Amino acid sequence: MSYDISKLQSLVDEALSLGKSCSGGANANYIPFLASVPPELCAISIVCCSGEIVHAGDYDYGFALESISKVCSMSLAMQQKGAEQVREKIGAEPTGLPFNSVMALTVHQDKPLTPLVNAGAMATVSFLDAPDKESRWQLVLDFQRKMMSKNVHLSEDVNTSEQETNFHNRAIAWLLYAAGNCFSDPMEACEVYTRQCSTLVTCDDLATLGGTLANGGVNPITKEKVIDPDNVAPILAEMTMEGMYDFSGDWAFLVGLPSKSGVGGGVIAVVPGKMAIAGFSPPLNEVGNSVRAQKMIQHIANRLNLSVYSPSPSL
Ligand code: GLU
Repeated sequence: MSYDISKLQSLVDEALSLGKSCSGGANANYIPFLASVPPELCAISIVCCSGEIVHAGDYDYGFALESISKVCSMSLAMQQKGAEQVREKIGAEPTGLPFNSVMALTVHQDKPLTPLVNAGAMATVSFLDAPDKESRWQLVLDFQRKMMSKNVHLSEDVNTSEQETNFHNRAIAWLLYAAGNCFSDPMEACEVYTRQCSTLVTCDDLATLGGTLANGGVNPITKEKVIDPDNVAPILAEMTMEGMYDFSGDWAFLVGLPSKSGVGGGVIAVVPGKMAIAGFSPPLNEVGNSVRAQKMIQHIANRLNLSVYSPSPSL
């Protein structure tokens, strides 16, 4: 499918000015590094399945991937173990509670329910076949690079800031372990999970990550086959249910695209078979979603009538 790229560029430019005019929200501050990122940064990128990129704003600024890394580790686990094993061991249900909720574990017999919350992401990392911590990390990093680009790298600054403050996640990892739901050493799982959140990506990289899913598992830029097509629908289903934190239901209603958000200020939205839209701007609303990225993506999705639930999509 081909698009009128100049029309898409005008829409992206329009979305950027709309995003920039949005005030409100605040940088995540429970991770010291994130609090120091300039809040005025704002970017929007689209990667089409054909490989074309349309972008505006600070699309080449490197920011922390954070929770969006959970899409990569979930996809990797499905590649290694099959989607059904991931559903059985980790789960495929929304928790209805914040991404780092201990209560969500307590009320579900310490089962994480989904790979897209902190507990589920640590369980997912622990579930990967790897002989030791460094090989586990290398697998995760390599997979992020395959879904995005080889430029994705660990930020020592972000990682140090997170490893020195991730006490809550360490507690969650021990709870999982106590219940038999952590499949490696729990501190190894927590450390690798924390590193996977601490890689730096650009808005174009994020759109490529989403584009790999939109394109049936083939990275639209490198053309490498990264994900088995059979795993794509389960990945997108998980993103729909839990990807936008406690706003996932509202997001499905308002935008209708499988998406994932991270506390670094990034959001990806996948339009299966067509494209992915990524937005970035650090200030978050109370549930943890970037105020401006949501606004920009919603504008584009609504204007192009992209909802997967629409009976008459316009593209
Ligand atoms: N590293 C962050 C944490 O574990 C990621 C959270 C997020 O982006 O949702 O709390």
